[in-house]
Amino acid sequence: MKRDVIVIGGGAAGLMCAIEAGKRGRSVLVLEHAERLGKKILISGGGRCNFTNVNASPENYLSANPHFCKSALARFTPADFIALVERHGVHYHEKKLGQLFCDTTSRQIVDLLQEECETARVEIRLNCQVREVRKPACFELETSDGRYESDSLVVATGGLSFPKLGATDLGYRIAAQFGHTLAGIRPGLVPLTFGAEDQAAFGELSGISIEVNACGNGANFQENLLFTHRGLSGPAILQISNYCGEGDAISLDLLPGRSALELLAAQRQTNRELKNVLAQFLPQRFVQEWCLRFAPSRPLNRYSTQELEGIAQLLHRWEIRPAGTEGYAKAEVTLGGIDTGELSSKTMESRRVLGLYFVGEVVDVTGWLGGFNFQWAWASGHAAGQFV
Ligand SMILES: Cc1cc2nc3c(=O)[nH]c(=O)nc-3n(C[C@H](O)[C@H](O)[C@H](O)COP(=O)(O)OP(=O)(O)OC[C@H]3O[C@@H](n4cnc5c(N)ncnc54)[C@H](O)[C@@H]3O)c2cc1C
Repeated sequence: MKRDVIVIGGGAAGLMCAIEAGKRGRSVLVLEHAERLGKKILISGGGRCNFTNVNASPENYLSANPHFCKSALARFTPADFIALVERHGVHYHEKKLGQLFCDTTSRQIVDLLQEECETARVEIRLNCQVREVRKPACFELETSDGRYESDSLVVATGGLSFPKLGATDLGYRIAAQFGHTLAGIRPGLVPLTFGAEDQAAFGELSGISIEVNACGNGANFQENLLFTHRGLSGPAILQISNYCGEGDAISLDLLPGRSALELLAAQRQTNRELKNVLAQFLPQRFVQEWCLRFAPSRPLNRYSTQELEGIAQLLHRWEIRPAGTEGYAKAEVTLGGIDTGELSSKTMESRRVLGLYFVGEVVDVTGWLGGFNFQWAWASGHAAGQFV
């Protein structure tokens, strides 16, 4: 039987699109290769799903065309998703910076999407492998369940991050098959790894967290940095990883909002050691290693003014050059994706192939950490759902 719409991928964007199309009376089939829907939703936000951000706006997204996301985001806002969450009686709270999390479990978000699918009479096939896609007239899909046909095909297969949860490159392959271009894809919101020297100095600090201002390539984020066994993570680093590629320097302000020079000058006449003074503001173990590497610790009254100025400057601008990233295995998202120049920002439909749509993370739109990526998934899925 031919359907109006087939959606490949039963994640955030695919389910939202299916629900909206189903509500319009379209016959919709979702093909999901995993054994369950929404696996990323389930593990997201530490199991509580940071499902949106009340402050989401186009400025929170990266894309070769920063205007592309505007239309969809304007037509399905955080308030719209919050209304859906509230209709289903899901309790939530704001953690910080507009980030909304479920009070209990992210399963509630998957459950609400599933209930909405049932109400909208969306058909779902789990454990279904898509083997081939053709479009002689309508779309024909050869799958492990047999052949399916549809007038519209929505590709909602997400990015490459977290392959252990079932991420595949099928969406990119379908895009390439139909003549679409991929804007450079790479891991995003990803921990960074140290080069040899930093590893030797800081590799033992795993678990230590510091509030920093991380800057690079014109972006800056004041949040926590976390030392790992192999490098740096934590929100500040995940955020800046979206902006700084391989070889780019990242500048860390270790005392954001304070003047290191004033802090040091205030105790200038004492014989207190530099590392003890800094340990009043930063974790002691970190200070110890940092001083060993950059500013061998002496009593403060034994530094020249010039030396103290240099140390203060370094505390505000500690430049690191990561050796690389932890890759897709630990990246929350995939940067880049289907070139937005070949899609309609209103409908998410391909400008090359009538009836072919791309939604969610597979598209070259990537959000900051903090609920922005789900908001893009809901909004782009919703946009396509009105037209498929
Ligand atoms: C650990 C982790 C935590 C995260 N936490 C948050 C958070 O709290 N807030 C936030 O906003 N974002 C978070 N994200 C990002 C967010 O999960 C994604 O941006 C979002 O899920 C993208 O939605 P999507 O529908 O495009 O893709 P997905 O949700 O990844 O859905 C894609 C679906 O397609 C299926 N699929 C893939 N290949 C095939 C195939 N070949 N055949 C059939 N089906 C296929 C997948 O199994 C999956 O169900 C997190 C990501 C990770 C990895």
